[in-house]
Amino acid sequence: MPNDPGAPAQHAFPRLFAPLDLGFVRLANRLVMGSMHTRLECEPDGARKLAAFYAERARGGVGLIITGGVAPNADGLLEEDADALADPSRVPFHRTITDAVHAEDGRICLQILHAGRYARIPAPVGASDIASPINRRPIRALTDTEVEQTVEDFARSAALAREAGYDGVEIMGSEGYLVTQFTCPRTNDRTDRWGGPFENRMRFPLEIVRRTRARVGRDFLIVFRISALDLVEGGLDAAETIAQARVLAAAGVDVLDTGIGWHEARVPTIAYTVPRAAWTFAAKRIKDAVGIPVMATNRINTPELAERLLADGVSDLVSLARPFLADPEFAAKAKAGRSRAINTCIACNQACLDYLFVNRPATCLVNPRAGRETEFPAGRAARAKRIAVVGAGAAGLACAVAAAERGHRVTLFEAAARIGGQLNLAKAIPGKEFAETLRYFETRLAEAGVELRLETPVDARTLAAAGFDEIVVATGVRPRVPELPGIDHPKVARYDEILSGARAAGRDVAIMGAGGIGFDVAEFLSAPPGAERADRFLAAWGVDTTGAASGGLTQPAAERGARRITMFQRRSTPPGRTLGMTTGWALKAELARRGVRILAGVRYVRVDDAGLHYVHEGAPHVLACDTVVLCTGQLAARELHDGLAALGVRAHLIGGAERAEELDALRAFDQGTRVACAL
Ligand code: NAP
Ligand code: SF4
Repeated sequence: MPNDPGAPAQHAFPRLFAPLDLGFVRLANRLVMGSMHTRLECEPDGARKLAAFYAERARGGVGLIITGGVAPNADGLLEEDADALADPSRVPFHRTITDAVHAEDGRICLQILHAGRYARIPAPVGASDIASPINRRPIRALTDTEVEQTVEDFARSAALAREAGYDGVEIMGSEGYLVTQFTCPRTNDRTDRWGGPFENRMRFPLEIVRRTRARVGRDFLIVFRISALDLVEGGLDAAETIAQARVLAAAGVDVLDTGIGWHEARVPTIAYTVPRAAWTFAAKRIKDAVGIPVMATNRINTPELAERLLADGVSDLVSLARPFLADPEFAAKAKAGRSRAINTCIACNQACLDYLFVNRPATCLVNPRAGRETEFPAGRAARAKRIAVVGAGAAGLACAVAAAERGHRVTLFEAAARIGGQLNLAKAIPGKEFAETLRYFETRLAEAGVELRLETPVDARTLAAAGFDEIVVATGVRPRVPELPGIDHPKVARYDEILSGARAAGRDVAIMGAGGIGFDVAEFLSAPPGAERADRFLAAWGVDTTGAASGGLTQPAAERGARRITMFQRRSTPPGRTLGMTTGWALKAELARRGVRILAGVRYVRVDDAGLHYVHEGAPHVLACDTVVLCTGQLAARELHDGLAALGVRAHLIGGAERAEELDALRAFDQGTRVACAL
């Protein structure tokens, strides 16, 4: 639904849907789809895929889109097959994207990103030859002539972006990429005019902005993503950041976007463990210091929160990146007062950032269509069928909604009194926002006309006799209870009993199993009261909110875990290997801070009144504990499917019922959606 910039602001989010007039360009609302690398440009037919991806978001009503980073020259590539806009030959590729967005009445800026010492290319360059802890390649310092040329390359890239039809550019000046490598002493030990005193270190971003403005003219949007908080030693303090913001505004920047934390920072900035809006203090600091519009970013995922930030004067625009992967119609739904129908980004990173790290194009755990718009075209099935889906966990919900959206008549059977299956347990983990996912599905089931039958266990014979055209079995999993002497001791509880609140844990806890659920349970049981609050989070991670400290870092506050917890696993491989690449390290650091111990390579012996007996490194031990929590994997609940097979009825088997090992919500949502699209 295209925006109507002239419409009166009479909906639930008046500030969010107030247009922003920048003189030469008018944004329909204050929602910005922030830059997010998708890797679609590396795919065959990448321009068409990117065009479909961005066009769907423009159609969904977002005020401004900022593309994933595109390098200004070959040295600036993030990786060898990344995209650069360095000469006219790439203009047609980008024209495909801008035409598609403009056809939907959208606005789009190209982000120009020089990776500097983060580049995963054979010979990366930097402000100095200081290597990065997250990219071990040796770094060559740019010569004075090369710095000059790099500034020119930024300006040329912006001019080419204009030629390609973009409404503007965003200059990436945060997250530890080349621009920040010049601004901070941490990575800049030059002694020429590009290093040393503050004014010299600011010269690189300032020259980029000046020359870009001179090249593109006044009527072309220049957004600058400033590092509002570096979160590394040797970063800027607040006074320097504000000084930078002011000189950039004076040099011709139209809008300041705010980045939080270098990629090498040892503080999580966007993972689910980060409380919503935790970083907005840094955006407000900049907003209060400059006269141009400022964007707030990071862990903002609902229109209610975005509206509040605008009302509180934190920023003039709100940038959300992953939430537009999760729901391309985020803006249109909010504008129409349908925010309960928004598929909320839960900050899991599992299918977006974690995929990029293994060179896969980004998609979304809660929206498997994201980035695959050409693969999963929206549309109706050729023939409407009567479909039974059994089980309203992640796989069943995704399948039922997607099938109904394709025009099928869907009945969803669920034995429990509510939808969600295992998601009802996962939503109890601090920071895991699956409650939003369930709210979304409740709304969508009703909107899509799915007949939901709760508290309705079904048997094979009844189902077979009901005359459905297709049957989908998504009956999920049940926790595995290992065979061990004393496993029925009263101090032993399953993870589902603990997370559902059916059983309470004592003070001294043994967790058997250090897979994803073992870590989740450790997080659940170790979190001290108030740990979910932004101020507690920032203090625990040593973030300085006063602005005095260089890089925004201070001494972390001591945090005591709520219980004494020991996790066990039988394998001797490092525990936590199955956790998300971009979130697991933060979770492990948090648990370590709370004193959670993890023992690998154990053999369980028995549970008795004394506690958990085990053998470690050949020696017998006993952990005195009052609770032993079983997080020892799951088994497929497949009785219904087997019963149907015995009757000769073919059914689609999905989710944990199909394969309990390594099941997670990512596979469940993906499989449920794919099966529905094939019905
Ligand atoms: P899991 O990751 O496979 O872990 C199961 C654990 O149980 C393992 O640590 C295994 O380790 C242990 N185990 C297996 N059989 C056992 C037995 N007979 N006796 C004792 N221990 C046994 O499974 P999960 O933790 O149940 O999680 C289920 C799925 O959800 C996994 O795919 C997981 O990755 C996913 N998940 C992901 C997240 C996330 O944040 N991404 C969170 C939760 C769950 P040893 O055999 O070495 O002891
Ligand atoms: Fe958000 Fe997770 Fe989807 Fe990424 S995969 S967009 S973090 S819900």
